[in-house]
Amino acid sequence: MTTQASKDTLQKFIFDNGAVRGEFVEISDTWKEIQSRHTYPPAVKTVLGEMVAAASLLSANLKFNGSIIMQIHGDGPVRLLVVECDADLRMRATAKLVPDAVIDNEASMPALLNLHGHGRFVITLDPADKLPGQQPYQGVVPLDGENMATVIENYMLRSEQLDTKLWLGADDNVSRGMLLQKLPRHSGKDDQVAQSSEEEDLETWNRAVMLGSTLKQEELLGTDIQTLMNRLFWEETIRVFDPVHPQFHCSCTREKVGNMLKMLGRAEVDAALDDLGQLGINCDFCGKHYDFDKVDCAQLFASDTTADAVTPASAIKH
Ligand SMILES: [Zn+2]
Repeated sequence: MTTQASKDTLQKFIFDNGAVRGEFVEISDTWKEIQSRHTYPPAVKTVLGEMVAAASLLSANLKFNGSIIMQIHGDGPVRLLVVECDADLRMRATAKLVPDAVIDNEASMPALLNLHGHGRFVITLDPADKLPGQQPYQGVVPLDGENMATVIENYMLRSEQLDTKLWLGADDNVSRGMLLQKLPRHSGKDDQVAQSSEEEDLETWNRAVMLGSTLKQEELLGTDIQTLMNRLFWEETIRVFDPVHPQFHCSCTREKVGNMLKMLGRAEVDAALDDLGQLGINCDFCGKHYDFDKVDCAQLFASDTTADAVTPASAIKH
């Protein structure tokens, strides 16, 4: 809901000696806003915060105007994690837990989301200006990894054929991440990357990953971007781009909530209306409240606009 520029920062950079790019991100205001309407157990905060950092890092590299939506459908105490980030790094995120779930403070990502091996990680790329009938691109991958960084590295290698390394961390105050990526040969003239040989690219990549691997979790969480960059890459020749600023934004509308009700189906909505008189629905992302009475619902089912599937809202509140 913030409209002024936030302090949250994403910093892109490239190495001059080989076709390798990197990004640092530091998300504080946006991350606090995401958490402000929920009380998540610490282990859930960590995983969701890391996913927030990851979504911004991937989104900043997309070459299309649209949103990236990352969803993890879990089979453990956490049922769903959702992070959305658009081309301007406007973000929202939420988590859904099994009611009364007891979650250990140190619970790992597999324990939270992949207890029986049925967790699924879905990445949707949703263009802002879809052509009629155009569907968003969706990739579904198993949750094969001990942590968020590994799962996304595997996804990038499989779906984009890109060598990617991620370092992610989150606590109550900040969500931070670093991405390193080896750019493909002949990646096009729009990439302002080094004109280097394949050997130089590989050497630069190996060196960057080695330097990155010295980064400790506490160091990532406790150090600002500039200091981290100097500390890790002081011997490298690096070009830094203008920073961009992630911020919180929820795209919920009355129309989207109405579509969600339509997806529930007329029978279920009518039953709830008989029970409650009217339906009150809170947006899971920003907390905004929407009321639908009998007349509103009758109008919903009388119109024939199509449903929008990517906006989960919380269950009907009693
Ligand atoms: Zn909302």
